[in-house]
Amino acid sequence: MALPSLRQQIEQLIASPSVSCTRADLDMSNRGVIELLEGWLSHLGFATEVMEVAPGKYNLIATLGSGPGGLVLSGHTDTVPCNEEKWQSNPFRVTERDQKLYGLGSCDMKGFFAVAIEALLPFLQQPGPAGFKEPLIILATADEECSMIGARALAESGRLKARKAVIGEPTSLRPIYQHKGIMMNGLRITGQAGHSSNPALGNSAMEAMHSVMTELMSFRQDIQSRYCNADFAVQVPTLNLGCIHGGDNPNRICGQCELEFDLRALPGMDNDELFAQMQQRLQPVAERHNVKFELYPLFPHIPAFSNQRELELIQTCERLTGHSAESVAFATEGPFLQKMGMETLILGPGSIDQAHQPDEFLALDQIEPAVRILRGLIKRYCLQTEA
Ligand SMILES: [Zn+2]
Repeated sequence: MALPSLRQQIEQLIASPSVSCTRADLDMSNRGVIELLEGWLSHLGFATEVMEVAPGKYNLIATLGSGPGGLVLSGHTDTVPCNEEKWQSNPFRVTERDQKLYGLGSCDMKGFFAVAIEALLPFLQQPGPAGFKEPLIILATADEECSMIGARALAESGRLKARKAVIGEPTSLRPIYQHKGIMMNGLRITGQAGHSSNPALGNSAMEAMHSVMTELMSFRQDIQSRYCNADFAVQVPTLNLGCIHGGDNPNRICGQCELEFDLRALPGMDNDELFAQMQQRLQPVAERHNVKFELYPLFPHIPAFSNQRELELIQTCERLTGHSAESVAFATEGPFLQKMGMETLILGPGSIDQAHQPDEFLALDQIEPAVRILRGLIKRYCLQTEA
């Protein structure tokens, strides 16, 4: 087998659909993408291990060289669903227009794997196991876009021991050292329906929800007055009351009301603690209204991610990219890799502005500098020479 070119790799990865979604009718296996990557990397001499993390969902750990340290280049293999009718071209076929490669997953983030493979090729010509003093690990995870089960399973297995990790999410080649957490919760209030003509015939879940929402907004005010981080565009934690459903008719007392909201915590805030605090504040409100109340996560919480600003990996990435490390508003698998004891940073080609959109693209002028930066990282952490 000959290794396909960088462009062919991107084409093949995008032609292998791997949508992950909480809606079962849209959710797909990522097996095709994992098999492509496993084929190419084992051909290049990597030892590969495929880890099934859920039925039809796989992580790939591909390792070149051995030892406890080295570098992990990490990406997710799944994409979000797409509205094909809103695309100008087939989302599963790479189309080049205006110096851009269009396709679902081009920047978020199948393109990164091809870029990583391109970056490592010159090192394979050197004697020994690529002349590596420390291993290079390519990590490909499942289901980042919905549950992050791939990264969660990996964190639990404690499998990876490398010292440095770079996640190639589209950051326009700027190093990202922190992001907020995400927690999405549902809240169900059950009262008692009845004829509206006599309030004694029921107990309004909607009126109880009104008080609960007031309490949530005062909780928001509290956390916003206590936490602030000037490195973020939105400097305080946010809490958004996103949707509400309750009742059915003006002449019925509302028997049930449901609210969904998200809370984006700053680094240093703990999701579980915040969840417990909300529970504690809302319980007495529900009791006052004599309604049943349940607060529940809509999906497992994603922790905030942060690094010490002085970290050596940050400095190396700043030097290689020519940009100071920044903060972003989107969440990544960063906290899960960090949990395994790795210094972790987010840095990759393409822009998040194009991700999760119709006509997602990877600008061609991102590829060459991305390859150069990754080569610098491989040199620094696997060959232990100055980048
Ligand atoms: Zn992504």
